[in-house]
Amino acid sequence: MSISARRNILALVAGLLAMGSSAALAQTPIQITADLSEAARKIYHAEIDIPVKAGPITLITPQWIPGTHRPTPIVDSITGVVFTANGETLTWRRDNVDMFEYHLTIPKGVTTLHAHLDLINPGRQTTKLAAFEWEGLLLYPAGIPVAKIAIQPSVTVPKGWGVGTALVPEGELTASSATTETHHFAPTTVEQLEDSPVDTGLYFHEFALAPEIKPAHFIDVVSDEPGDCDLRPATLAEINNLIREADALYKSHHYNQYHLLLTLTDATGGQGLEHGQSSDNGVNEKGFADDTQQLGNADLLSHEFTHSWNGKYRRPARLYQPDFATPQQGDLLWVYEGMTQYLGNVLAARSGLKNQQQYREMLALSAAQLDYKTGREWRSTEDTAIASSILRGGSQSWSNWKRGQDYYQEGELLWLDADTLIRKLTDNKKSLNDFEAIFLGKGGNTGPLIVPYERPELIADLNEVVPYDWAKFLHDRIDNINPHADLAGIEQGGYKLVYKDEPSQAQKTLMAAGGRRGAGVSAWYSIGLSAMADGTISDVRFHGPADQAKLSPGVKIYAVNGKVFSADSLKAAIKAAKGTTEPIHLILEQDGFVTMADINYHDGERYPTLVRVDGTPDYLDDITKPLTTPGPAPKQ
Ligand SMILES: [Zn+2]
Repeated sequence: MSISARRNILALVAGLLAMGSSAALAQTPIQITADLSEAARKIYHAEIDIPVKAGPITLITPQWIPGTHRPTPIVDSITGVVFTANGETLTWRRDNVDMFEYHLTIPKGVTTLHAHLDLINPGRQTTKLAAFEWEGLLLYPAGIPVAKIAIQPSVTVPKGWGVGTALVPEGELTASSATTETHHFAPTTVEQLEDSPVDTGLYFHEFALAPEIKPAHFIDVVSDEPGDCDLRPATLAEINNLIREADALYKSHHYNQYHLLLTLTDATGGQGLEHGQSSDNGVNEKGFADDTQQLGNADLLSHEFTHSWNGKYRRPARLYQPDFATPQQGDLLWVYEGMTQYLGNVLAARSGLKNQQQYREMLALSAAQLDYKTGREWRSTEDTAIASSILRGGSQSWSNWKRGQDYYQEGELLWLDADTLIRKLTDNKKSLNDFEAIFLGKGGNTGPLIVPYERPELIADLNEVVPYDWAKFLHDRIDNINPHADLAGIEQGGYKLVYKDEPSQAQKTLMAAGGRRGAGVSAWYSIGLSAMADGTISDVRFHGPADQAKLSPGVKIYAVNGKVFSADSLKAAIKAAKGTTEPIHLILEQDGFVTMADINYHDGERYPTLVRVDGTPDYLDDITKPLTTPGPAPKQ
């Protein structure tokens, strides 16, 4: 946004606080109808009526979307922008600096401005379903906190498609054409509407979950194929357990009802975006269809659900801005995402979405990856959080030297360390569960609400559970450069990270499912490279044996010890070199030239796993035990 608009916000925030929120919301709501009926053609439309007064006005679309941790260039896809008033087309001009702002002058006598927008290539839709996040079609006056702008939404979908959302229905379904129909919802605010995605599809199944827990919880599933949206009974029972386990852990809620929205399709990428009263989750068509497929997705629903407490209700102070235009600051993302990463995996294990052994073996994969991340030699975990907006996505090449959004997994190890330390200090009488009930439950049960925090509050709440130098604990692990990962939680939990010559069962399962951690060939902890199935090196571990042999990402391995490259020929060569002095001979192709390289490595294959340390307290398995008695899934 422009500097002048930002100044306006400050004035308006002060003014609105003086007015009180009820007066501020007494305004006539903006009316917006999002038309998703052309999902199959990758284009959405919106008709928006905005209450206005005569004179200049600046309208804006969102840039900093909560939960994405970087500015989103969605404005690139906004097309067909036409403003009309009293039947006349009005001219508009984009701001010279802020591409998200439109400037207009409203003529005398006009009280409603009509805007038409199209959104092209929205991202997650097929001929049978659509997952819709409102930010692509929202338009509202700039310079006003989005929590203070009233808006009333409607959604048009192909006739007969089911609709899942946390928005509150209002009024009857109306037919908009012979083939489409429109669902109407109660007025809300721009802030809440952005936080309330919609999934819709021909094959749609809404399940009520754990009905004994209030308020109501649902999972709304849409799929490309009939039958998939029905979910298998075992998975459904585990998702019911998830609701019970979260209730037992957090002991509060901050929503009026909660909807887990889930799309099952191979046509679009995966998705996980948190919201206060819902979450937008997407996996491949068969992503929960059997235990093998489910393992890589096991913590998705529990992670995004946890964000309703940690991230939505409790939000790092600088990550919460009054609008979607002011840059968000990510320095506390190791709490927002890191603690959610920890709790999401713990809840998945407590619910049965994965078992305790799978939990441990996947923790080993994550811990090993961090421990061998060479970029930790120059970059702190806090820096990965501060720099979040420039670390998402990008090339995998040299990514271990660069580091990525490591605050997720670093945070998981940090909060495991805190959990096991609390257990150790209190002889297992207290745990991080007690901290969560305090930190995430302040204010008791509420509707959707954002309560910002700073680091001292975390320290005070940890001290309330058990006195300790928590300020130093956090500072040492987050702000300092640490050449090794924080493995103390695993060790206090009664286990040790070791490397074996065969992948763990969980790693084999992930590889079988083509999961993201197992794709291609993993020789990361042995010769120090990962390669795609065709031999193209996706990354080289900085300071590792392949790095010392001057290999680089993008180079293609043609042959290994005289044999054509395959996953098996590479593994066989690593095995054969074990205990010898003979290097592994490679023939490579780089930029159209053929070269050769020798890797001097003789320690055999190495895959991470956890082993139990006898005679120590087994806190890790205590942590993943259910807090509740698993109940059956309700009949639907
Ligand atoms: Zn998250």
